[in-house]
Amino acid sequence: MEISEILIYWYQEHKRELPWRNTDDPYLIWISEVILQQTRVAQGLDYFLRFTARFPNIRSLAEAEEDEVLKYWQGLGYYTRARNLRAAARSVMEHFAGHFPSDYRNVRSLRGIGEYTAAAIVSFAWNQPYAVVDGNVFRLLARLFAVDTPIDTARGKKEIGSLATALMNPSKSGLHNQAAMEFGALHCVPSNPDCLHCPLGNKCLGYASGSPQSYPVKRHKTKIRLRYFHYLHIVCRGETWLHRRQGKDIWTGLYEFPLIETSAPADFIALQTNETFRDFFAEAGEINVSVVLPDVKHILSHQQLHASFYRIEIERPAKALESYLRIPDEDLDGYAFPRLIRIYLDKERQLSGSNSY
Ligand code: SF4
Repeated sequence: MEISEILIYWYQEHKRELPWRNTDDPYLIWISEVILQQTRVAQGLDYFLRFTARFPNIRSLAEAEEDEVLKYWQGLGYYTRARNLRAAARSVMEHFAGHFPSDYRNVRSLRGIGEYTAAAIVSFAWNQPYAVVDGNVFRLLARLFAVDTPIDTARGKKEIGSLATALMNPSKSGLHNQAAMEFGALHCVPSNPDCLHCPLGNKCLGYASGSPQSYPVKRHKTKIRLRYFHYLHIVCRGETWLHRRQGKDIWTGLYEFPLIETSAPADFIALQTNETFRDFFAEAGEINVSVVLPDVKHILSHQQLHASFYRIEIERPAKALESYLRIPDEDLDGYAFPRLIRIYLDKERQLSGSNSY
């Protein structure tokens, strides 16, 4: 049997039943693929169901406010992807009369849709012969063919892309792609792949080499940037202060408390010598500080955040807070926060014994 046939046979026996597998609606396939790029299936499923219940089609997503879309994305991270989804939906309404385009180049022209997502959409929805190469397929092919070229190089990517295309049965591209992705996700897993019981065992050069886990080969180790965040949850007579993150940094468009970022760890005593801190509290009268969460580690793809949260009650707000939004405590829940801040708010709510904001 050919590799593609073996994968499809295996898939039909072992695949997980997931809502986006029982549809050829390109909109639902698109949403599921973008969600699954950043989370595991178990967690992604909840997000998918909630997101598509609120935005069941292109029109509903295109007409939604950005804040609401971000709220439904809250906790998934990579918020640019949520903004891109909405922008692409608007573009489908404007340029394709609300119908998801079936032409690969038109799909690729939509904001945030790269080669991988476009191939998934056109092959799953219309069985067009485009090979999908996600992380699971990369690993599978690098092992099957013992590819020594590092996969984080242009040459390595091209090599795997050509193998993926050559391996695919073009008349069953949708099924083949789903099978290869699922096989990589469930069987040819990153650590301890079950080579002994693998239906591809007698065709796998990685297995034959004696160390399948040494594939795929990588050239660069990603550098992790350490950052130290000190959040000030400033409270005055039932109100607090927020701002919306802007620019090209993480969490653009989400809300957060006044933040002081330092280049090295800093405790509260050191923080009080910070100029921004002093400006916030210069005219605040008596202040009452409690540390709700000291040094929470939060891992993002290329960054490790160390965050501390201080709840600080003040008598009156200083001028330095004027550029922030002043929010009644009970309205806080309506804002889209990064997951890190949501963790803090849950903890703070537990400690204060209140059920909601
Ligand atoms: S033999 Fe092992 S490394 Fe090769 S495809 Fe199967 S599980 Fe993956």
